Amino acid sequence: MIRNLLFPRRCPGCNELLSENEMEKGFCKECRSLIKRAEGHICEKCGRLLITPGGTLCDECRSRPHSFDEARALYIYDEPLKSAMYRFKYSNMRGYIESFMDEGYHRIAPWIEHIAPDVIVPVPMYKAKERKRGYNQADVIGKALSGRSGIPFKKDLIIREKNTIPQKGLSPEERRNNLKNAFKTGASVVQLSRILIVDDILTTGVTADMMSSLLKEAGAEKVFCFSICTGRAVESPED
Ligand SMILES: [Zn+2]
Ligand SMILES: [Zn+2]
Repeated sequence: MIRNLLFPRRCPGCNELLSENEMEKGFCKECRSLIKRAEGHICEKCGRLLITPGGTLCDECRSRPHSFDEARALYIYDEPLKSAMYRFKYSNMRGYIESFMDEGYHRIAPWIEHIAPDVIVPVPMYKAKERKRGYNQADVIGKALSGRSGIPFKKDLIIREKNTIPQKGLSPEERRNNLKNAFKTGASVVQLSRILIVDDILTTGVTADMMSSLLKEAGAEKVFCFSICTGRAVESPED
């Protein structure tokens, strides 16, 4: 296709140029064999892979209730996705989103159809930070998902009032404290009963939980979360 000649695409996993026939598959052959997809035996609630047979919920979802209703992701946050996500966030490799969608949208589409959200909302970035970085990676994901699913994308339903330190390396408790009063609802959410939050990586789910609580206080009935990557596989004790 002419578009592909004008805008050559790179494999998110290794950042090498993709050949014409690899392009529609999203990743190069080698990276395709290395990526770990978040599919199969997953936690019904948070979408992480369950490594032990039996059980439908992971340990964490059994012990700590989430505010969001369900979360799903395309990949496990492991190499080569770790490096891919770094470049996607910090090195302006926004184009990777097309590869993520080409490789994975068909896997997530039945779930999106099932949850039937009214709107797609990105995890907001603090304005000054977004200006400095040039873009919010969650917007890139949200717009792409909106384009493929036809569900409207709304950026300012929730805004970030406080610049927070990165969540990486913090415990769930520290994460909650760090995000305290970080968000507030912007435009009216009253009309929207089913909301899909999008983010790049879901780790502890604290961010999704805080946004879900806010949205539900504002009148949302169900809140879901979609991310490109999710945390490592977790235990699922027998019921
Ligand atoms: Zn590759
Ligand atoms: Zn879980």
